[in-house]
Amino acid sequence: MNLEIENSLKNLQMTSTLERFKQTAERAQQARRAFMATQPAVIPCRVHPDCQRRIDEELTARATARNIGGFEAGYVPCPKCLEAQQVEKLQAYGLPANLTHATFENWIADDQSETEHLEVLKSFCKIQRGFLILIGGYGTGKSHLAAAALRTIGKGWFVKQSSLLVALRQTYRDKAAFDPIDRAQSARLFVLDDVGLSAGGRDELPLLHEILDYRHSERMATIITSNFEWESISNVIGERMADRMRESAFRLLKFTGTSHRREARERYFD
Ligand SMILES: [Zn+2]
Repeated sequence: MNLEIENSLKNLQMTSTLERFKQTAERAQQARRAFMATQPAVIPCRVHPDCQRRIDEELTARATARNIGGFEAGYVPCPKCLEAQQVEKLQAYGLPANLTHATFENWIADDQSETEHLEVLKSFCKIQRGFLILIGGYGTGKSHLAAAALRTIGKGWFVKQSSLLVALRQTYRDKAAFDPIDRAQSARLFVLDDVGLSAGGRDELPLLHEILDYRHSERMATIITSNFEWESISNVIGERMADRMRESAFRLLKFTGTSHRREARERYFD
């Protein structure tokens, strides 16, 4: 047979197979929609009776695929259940309970510079690369924005400098304890919160170096917050490391706000 004819015959067969698939999928969709029309459009949440769950085509398709008995309606979780899942996830990523509510939307910028800081954080979450350094006094909302970044990026590890050291020392006694270096190096977003004075011990500087050096060379998304000026931080992480971080930082943001109400409120609700 002529090669050209052979090829066009094959194409024709493929087209008709695809066409059959398409028709089968369309029929399944029609049947699913007909079934959905017989089901309640919304049902109350069992956990939050004041919340409604609405029927969803994609979830109905999935529930039906799992169900041998035939059609089964799928409903989206209620907003409160979705938020509870989100909070549970954030806590597993190390976020303290008083920061799990933090979002970019509920950040209240007090002035123009804070509005700009918010925009920097948002673009950092899009790019997800390099170091972002947040410096400012206690209660100026740095941790709120770092927490919101973790929520936005959706994966990572949020840890205080002091807790990181505690986790490292745990591994000296308990070989089964998780390795904080490994966790910090592999985190999609690593937030080193509250970098301050050295907690002491010869293991602290090598620990911070190993983590920060790795993330720096891989240009991995890293946020550092501190109540101290950058000069004091360089005493903790070493001047050379501090210089490299400063030079290549995505941004270094200074929070000068005197308003303490934001984190005071966060502490209150803790
Ligand atoms: Zn619910």
